[in-house]
Amino acid sequence: LKGAQARLAELLDEASCAVAFTGAGLSTECGIPDFRSPGGLWTQNKPIPFDVFVSHKAARNEAWRRKFAMEEAFASARPGRGHRALARLHGHGRLKGIITQNIDGLHQASGVPDAALIELHGNGTYATCLDCGARYELDWVKARFDASGGSAPDCPECGGPIKAATISFGQAMPETEMARADELTRKCDLFIVIGSSLVVFPAAGFPLKAKKKGARLVILNREPTDFDELADLVVRTEIGDLLEPFAQDA
Ligand code: NAD
Ligand code: ZN
Repeated sequence: LKGAQARLAELLDEASCAVAFTGAGLSTECGIPDFRSPGGLWTQNKPIPFDVFVSHKAARNEAWRRKFAMEEAFASARPGRGHRALARLHGHGRLKGIITQNIDGLHQASGVPDAALIELHGNGTYATCLDCGARYELDWVKARFDASGGSAPDCPECGGPIKAATISFGQAMPETEMARADELTRKCDLFIVIGSSLVVFPAAGFPLKAKKKGARLVILNREPTDFDELADLVVRTEIGDLLEPFAQDA
């Protein structure tokens, strides 16, 4: 572990533009289950594809039922050691930006400014109308969901479907975020993957793009990924343990 930490510190020192790319593995120590590890809440239910959500009221009811069932874990979660380390590295100018697949809002909670954060898969802490874009808070949705015995509310403005502001399978990626992530990936000379299985595309294309552009690639993940062979450094350990020293002042 010490050797890996030293090597990571060295790579950060040598980089002039370092970028972190984070996945669900960063937040498991915060009590939010990841997607593919055994026991994760997601492994119990097949994800609801976007077109099904839009076209079926029953699917929307089910999506919101699941969302509120998981909300306790999300609402009580606080940033972990990995989040704190990344926020500190950014604060010290050693990390240019963070591209995240996470929707839990924990990078913001750890103090990373919006300008340095790219949420590729949206944010689950609020909802929007898919037709007119109006924003609705989760409490507002929950009050109507509960009062109607588990029926998902429609937009009072336009009647459109209301969905958590996250990107579902089959839903278009957010254009601005994709463009920002693209630019940051082109500019960087060190790309650090943290806690992602790298199987969800197009997000998983960014580490590949970084490597092709000549950046050094680091993969920090408990389990092997398909990109390990391409990486300049692979560390298979607990993210919190590994990044803990980076979260503390020297
Ligand atoms: P994933 O579940 O596919 O992969 C997570 C990886 O992290 C796994 O390979 C696992 O071995 C590893 N891991 C878990 N805990 C770890 C730890 N403590 N230390 C080291 N490694 C650890 O997640 P993904 O690649 O981010 O893709 C999942 C998709 O689901 C994303 O698109 C995301 O939007 C969504 N999601 C988000 C959250 C969240 O916001 N926290 C949680 C689950 C899923
Ligand atoms: Zn609307």
